[in-house]
Amino acid sequence: MTDSKPPLVQGQRVWCPRCKEYVKIVRVAGAAKIVDVDRRTVYNYIDKGKVQTFKIAGSTLRVCSHCLLRPQ
Ligand SMILES: [Zn+2]
Repeated sequence: MTDSKPPLVQGQRVWCPRCKEYVKIVRVAGAAKIVDVDRRTVYNYIDKGKVQTFKIAGSTLRVCSHCLLRPQ
C-alpha cells in the first residue's frame, strides 16, 4: 500500500441532546450536501433551533446530521 492520502475525516460521534443518541456531526457545508440545500438554508435551520450545533475547539461549527434528517 503506497497510498499516503489521509483518511477523510467526517466528524465524530457525539451526544445530541435533541436526538437523544450518539450522532455523527458534520460541517455546515457537509450538512448542506446531505439534505441538498445551500448553506444559508442550513444556517436558517440553526437559527430556528431545528438542528443541534456543536462548537469544537480549533474547528468550525458542526451540526448534527441526524437532526437534519429527522422530520421537523
Ligand atoms: Zn441531533
